[in-house]
Formats: sequence, structure tokens, C-alpha cells
Amino acid sequence: MTKTEQNKSIVFIGSECYPFVKSGGLGDVMYALPKELVRQGNDVRVIIPNYKCIPAKYRDNMEFKGSFDMDLCSDGRTFYVGIMEYVLDGVCYYFIDNEEFFTAGNPYTTIVDDIPKYCYFGKAALAALLYLEWVPDIIHCHDWQAGLIPIYLRTLFATTPLSSAKSVMTIHNLRFQGIYGLDHIKYWSGLPNHVFGNDCLKVGENDANMFKGGLAYCDMITTVSNTYAEEIQTDFFGENLDGHLRYHKEKLCGIVNGIDVETWDPATDPRVSVNYDVNNVIELKKENKRLLQEEVGLEQNEDKFVIGLISRLTDQKGLDLVNEILPQILDGNTQVVVLGTGDTRYEDSFRYYENAFQGIVSASIMYDETRAHKIYAGSDALLVPSLFEPCGLTQLNAMRYGTVPIVRETGGLKDTVEPYNVYENSGNGFTFDRYETALLYDAIERAKDVYFNNRENWDEIVVRDMYKDVSWTNAAKQYMDMYIEVIER
Ligand code: ADP
Repeated sequence: MTKTEQNKSIVFIGSECYPFVKSGGLGDVMYALPKELVRQGNDVRVIIPNYKCIPAKYRDNMEFKGSFDMDLCSDGRTFYVGIMEYVLDGVCYYFIDNEEFFTAGNPYTTIVDDIPKYCYFGKAALAALLYLEWVPDIIHCHDWQAGLIPIYLRTLFATTPLSSAKSVMTIHNLRFQGIYGLDHIKYWSGLPNHVFGNDCLKVGENDANMFKGGLAYCDMITTVSNTYAEEIQTDFFGENLDGHLRYHKEKLCGIVNGIDVETWDPATDPRVSVNYDVNNVIELKKENKRLLQEEVGLEQNEDKFVIGLISRLTDQKGLDLVNEILPQILDGNTQVVVLGTGDTRYEDSFRYYENAFQGIVSASIMYDETRAHKIYAGSDALLVPSLFEPCGLTQLNAMRYGTVPIVRETGGLKDTVEPYNVYENSGNGFTFDRYETALLYDAIERAKDVYFNNRENWDEIVVRDMYKDVSWTNAAKQYMDMYIEVIER
């Protein structure tokens, strides 16, 4: 039997999961990877908080599995833990229910509230497993919100049946770490003093870092691309944890994300205006482009080169570069359609450009899944000029929809987009390396040049992108190999 033929039990624990609650790529991964692992024969369940913002169609149909009181804080303060269940696409989801912690309309509020919330969530998730009498082989924790779980497992839960499980921590984004006053985290977590040393939770003089602690205590660290796994061990990308990660590098590896190719399928996607596949993409993309132009207020003209940008509007995403060169790339034949929310300065600047270049630039300052799908389907190219990008999903979605990515060579963007090579007529997109406006400008110009002057080659890139395997199948096999290695250690 090969490694990947052995079936395992795995619990995913994290702060968001599509379609219940999603603010970015983490939510996509928490949905699609368990689904694929179940398809490959494993028992995978997911635990997330039961936030008030989860749509009623799910909340109203959850099944109550039980409840108990759990002691949490160092003074023995106890809290209610309810367990709700919902099964979707073969995956069993448990929702940790507590109205005190999960009332807000958004999963993340302020760090002051988020620290107690995710201390509670981490301990409650493990306590729920004990309550359900389900001991998985692997406890797979995602990002800082689940950072205390590997520590709980080896301390307060060390004498429970759960101690036989191994823990894996995945870094989806190292920028957010859950840092707050050490005394505060000590109080809320109820964890013993010895885990608050410099080798584990402590940072600086008086702070604790929940991600750092989890990375120290887990059995394996993964991140979402090979390049990002290397990058985070350096000063520039390491977000002050590069030394910690270099120390733990023997247990660190990268596995590139996939996307859920059923949700993201232009042939069946109900959110796309005109469905298409690789055989008719060249014709039908024009129709989607025209309908997109109409919807977002751009001049309707299928000959324009439409560049999409779907992103959280933050510094990470390279938007200062975009802002600087936007007027220059508007040459009369190019249109830009932006979808995103985030920092006010970017929201305002894109609104300004929409106003200044009416019919040429469109800015939808909102979070809207349907519009996102329409932009993937109706654009010619998608811009992802990130300063850093652990994996990036938008370039994968884009390729699946025959939309050519223009990306900076960092993290997962570097690992998934092969630069177009004019001599060999190979590659999937257009790339640039250093974080400079001139290089972004140059990459866009190179893309335009092929689009306007060598359409045959452009169309071949489109078709190559649609054929590229961006599914979870291969990545899920790599996760299985990693789980088995950790279990057999
Ligand atoms: P990150 O997790 O850093 O935000 P990713 O590229 O990993 O970035 O994932 C972003 C995901 O969120 C993609 O599925 C993208 O389509 C989606 N997304 C981002 N912004 C919006 C928005 N404003 N409306 C709809 N979907 C969005």
C-alpha cells in the first residue's frame, strides 16, 4: 500500500471557512482541502466558531450535539461551550457556540476582543473533541487564531485521550500573529507559566505571541507554497519570527494550495453570465466581457484590454504600485475593474480613479462573491502585484477562468505562474521580480503587446491556463504524505 492509500482522521481547526464565513484565502482552504481529503477516503471534520454572521440558512439548520461548561482563565472562570453540527459535501462541520464571544457581525474585531475570543475557541475546540469522544490522528491548526491549540494539547490536555493526536500548524499569513500583553494572554488562556518563555509564547519585554507558541509546540509546520516557506526564514518576510522559524526549520515545509474546481468552474458556475469551457473560451469570454462592462459601468467594447483586480485593499497586495501607475496604463485601449475592501486610502484612491476616468476605470468597493466570479470570467488579465503573497488564490481562480495573471514573483505567485516565454510560446502569465513601479508597468506592457499584436499567442496562453491543473487533488496527496510522516514519527 502506498502512503496515500492509508485513510486517516483529521480535524481542521481555524477561524473561518467558506461558505459559512470567509474573509480571504484561509476560508477557501478550510473548505476545499477537507472536501478533497474526504473524497480521497479520509475522515475529516472542521471546527470553527459559530459566529452570528453565518447566514441563517446554515445556522437554522445546524444540529445541536451537546454543551458543557469549560474552565478557561487562570482564576478558574468558566464559560459555556455549545457544539452545533452541519454536514456539507460529505464534510462534518462543528461550530463552537458561545454568544458572549461570537456576537459580532465580523469574525475579527479588535485585538483586545480577539485575544480572549481565540483563547476560548482553541481550548473549546479540544474540549469539544473530548466531549464528542472523537480522537483524530491529526489536529490541523490554521493561523494564529488556532495557535494555542498545540500548546493546550501538550499541557492541559496531556493526560487526556487527545494526547495521542499529532498537531500540524499551517501558516496562511504570517503577518497576523495574535500578539498581546503576556499577563493578559496568561490570564485568558489559563496556560502554565513554563510556556511563557522566550522559546515559546514570549516576545519582547512583556508580550506573548499566540502564533509563535503554536509554531514551537506543533509537530509539523506547513505553509502554503515552497517559496513562502523559504521567504519567511528571512528578515524581510519573517515578520520578526524568521529566527524562530529558522530554529524550527526541520519541521517546516511548503505545499501550494489548490482551488475547489467545482465551485470555480466556468462551464457550470451559476454566477457567470455566459458559461464557457476551454473549447469556446475565446468567443464566449468576449460576451462575458461585454456584460461585465455593462454591469460595472465601463464602455462596452470587446476590443478593450480589461484588467481585473480582486483583492483585500491593503499594503500587502502591492496597491501602492498600482496607484502610482494607473493613469499611465490607461492608453485608450485598456480598462481596469477593481473589486475590494480594506484600507481607506486605497478605497478612496480607487474611487477617485473611477471618477476621474469614467467608463475606463471601475471600482467596486465591496465584498461580493458574485461580482468576483463575473470579473474572473469577463477580464482578459488579472493583476496580482503583491509585496508578499503566501500562496495567493486569485491567480489560480483567474487561470481556471482563462484570465491571464500578471503577478510579482513572490511566494505562491512565483510557484504557480510560469512566465510567458515568447521564443518557446510557453508559460501562463506575465511576471516581474523587484517591487518597483517600472517593473510592474513593464509587465503590463508586455501583456498588452501580446494581446494587441500577437493575439494567436495570447489565445494560446488563455487555453494553457484553462488546462493547468489548479485542483486540490495533488496538494491533498502531499498533505496526506506529510500527515503520515508525522503520525509515524
Ligand atoms: P488573501 O487570503 O490574502 O486575502 P487570497 O488570494 O489567498 O488572498 O484569497 C483571496 C480570496 O478572496 C479569493 O477567493 C478572492 O476571489 C476572494 N476575494 C478577495 N476580495 C474579494 C472581494 N472584495 N469580493 C469577493 N471576493 C473577494
